Amino acid sequence: MNRNQVLPQVELSAEPSALKRIDFCAPQSYKGAGFLGILDMPRVAEEASAVSPGDGFHWSVETYFEDSPGSEPHQILELGLKGRLNLICQRCLQDCAVDLDEKRRFILVLTDSEADEYPLEDEEQEPLVVNQHFNLLETIEDEVLLSLPLIPKHPDGFCEPHASTFGDGDEEGASNERENPFNILKNMKKN
Ligand SMILES: [Zn+2]
Repeated sequence: MNRNQVLPQVELSAEPSALKRIDFCAPQSYKGAGFLGILDMPRVAEEASAVSPGDGFHWSVETYFEDSPGSEPHQILELGLKGRLNLICQRCLQDCAVDLDEKRRFILVLTDSEADEYPLEDEEQEPLVVNQHFNLLETIEDEVLLSLPLIPKHPDGFCEPHASTFGDGDEEGASNERENPFNILKNMKKN
């Protein structure tokens, strides 16, 4: 018999604070989706070089039970992440928008030792230790951080000698906030 047909499916609230306390021991499954702005994720915000309106991540979560021969059904969590944030390009040192589109699959376990026993070579899913008041927001944040490129860079040929080369409105907004180094030089010469 398929457990998922008899267990209730609970809709996850999209409210960031509600994601901080999810009961993964209850006999139910979850489904939900929402958007987390960069500022909802303080550790991600620390990495961001600039925050534009709309920067953040759409997330989707679904859990279900999967039968496994000879043992209790496994609880599976699938997480989708899609969004963008700005990092510093390590070639030209200007802001560089990084798009992420990630899918993760976890097998939920209740103890660290269960997680330790889980075969490392399984690349399709990894164990996640959960409890009755699990902080799912922190897990989403962890996965964003793990997905960031180690050395963020513009695509080849797209680096800019300075930010004002593109004449569009966004760039002008950015240079108002931060003094253009060339203007600083000009002012120094005048004095
Ligand atoms: Zn660059």
